[in-house]
Amino acid sequence: MTVMPSPVNRECYDEAIRLGPLLNNMIARIAADHDYLRKTLEETASVDDFTAKLLGLLGTGSKPGTGIEVGVFRHDFFVHDDDGNKPELRMVEMNCIASSFAALGTLTCEMHRFLAHHPVAYSHRFDSKAMPDNDAVGGIADGLAAAHKAYLERYSSVDPSTARIILVGQPGERNVYDQELLRWTLWGKHHVDMVRASLKEIAQDGVVSEDQVLRLPSCEHRPETVASVVYFRAGYSPDDYPSDAEWSARELIETSNAAKCPSVAAQLVGTKKIQQVLDNEGEVERFVDSDDDAKRIRRSFARQYTLSDTDAGAKATKLGIERPDDFVLKPQREGGGNNLYKAELKEALMTMSPAERSAYILMERIRPVVVQNVIARDGQWQQADVVSEFGVYGVYVASGGTVLENSTAGTLLRSKLASQDDGGVAAGVAVLDSPILQ
Ligand code: ADP
Ligand code: MG
Repeated sequence: MTVMPSPVNRECYDEAIRLGPLLNNMIARIAADHDYLRKTLEETASVDDFTAKLLGLLGTGSKPGTGIEVGVFRHDFFVHDDDGNKPELRMVEMNCIASSFAALGTLTCEMHRFLAHHPVAYSHRFDSKAMPDNDAVGGIADGLAAAHKAYLERYSSVDPSTARIILVGQPGERNVYDQELLRWTLWGKHHVDMVRASLKEIAQDGVVSEDQVLRLPSCEHRPETVASVVYFRAGYSPDDYPSDAEWSARELIETSNAAKCPSVAAQLVGTKKIQQVLDNEGEVERFVDSDDDAKRIRRSFARQYTLSDTDAGAKATKLGIERPDDFVLKPQREGGGNNLYKAELKEALMTMSPAERSAYILMERIRPVVVQNVIARDGQWQQADVVSEFGVYGVYVASGGTVLENSTAGTLLRSKLASQDDGGVAAGVAVLDSPILQ
């Protein structure tokens, strides 16, 4: 973590908060358009097995607009500043699955608020009044609880005492405290029970009956669990599917009437490929309410380029090879540590076949504002130049096509040494931070 909050430009902060619901809405609409997902991801899937597997599950669940939908998203931004005098918001990516650190991020804000009045080594005084309120964990708990309630209303034959939210976790999960705090908050605020199961356990024990109810006969010592919501904190990486069993669990969940957070469709919206295509003219416009909304969303985009086996792909490849420092090369992966930069980017673009390179997209490199902070990690303090990635959590709940909830649910700030290319707290690069507005 950092010892003090890091400064974030106030206008950029406000704009990111306002963009949240527009982006949530756009994701939900794209997720409902399976033909669009199939068409846009077809070429990528032909060379990327993980995308192909997910695409293969598309359409196995209920028709869009008929069940309960729930999204816990996180839209990540940098405050970009090329020449040091015009800070601008630039989106890094939208996360549609396993958006984590809401709970530990909320605690980091509280810790910094405390440290404002209790200085420690290296810290200096700051005005905690300029730290915005942040209850990301409470906001996400509210969203999951709203989906749970909507499930019970829609499927009224389910015995409410058996209905629970299932958190799909990785075996040997390391980020367990972030998840447990959410679980406690759900219980404390809403009296909704969340139980943990891995995809493997669901493959072994889970049953979907004719009424499409997903049941686990015994999970964490509860006699029977009906899944109201399946909240994925795993399943975003090929490593989460070491065998066919995990894929069959994913399919079982998808075919059930549980609210999937996310559905396969919503997860696919979060692919780097879809986000690249959205930067093309006319694409955002298809999925938002007004031109104003589209303009607003577009203003936050950094340029993204296709690397498909086309003239446009060849042109972008050339651009990347000529100016490797100005771009990021992204495969269809999540979780940090997968992108290529600089010499590696150049090398990859020079050696990949046109088919291979179509599994990637090329993104303009954002130049985030550099600030000073102190990073505490592994028992060491380090005063350093850092850059901060600002995340805005979004919660979206709909039942039978009616939107029940679409809001911004708190924020996350993660900082890393300015000299680092890639990011991610779980990936071991970034640390938890909190914003102080200026
Ligand atoms: P992941 O799904 O692995 O989190 P991201 O797109 O968020 O993928 O990229 C990982 C990290 O790489 C980000 O946290 C950020 O630090 C860095 N990064 C990604 N895109 C850019 C970009 N366009 N400019 C600068 N840094 C970037
Ligand atoms: Mg990311």
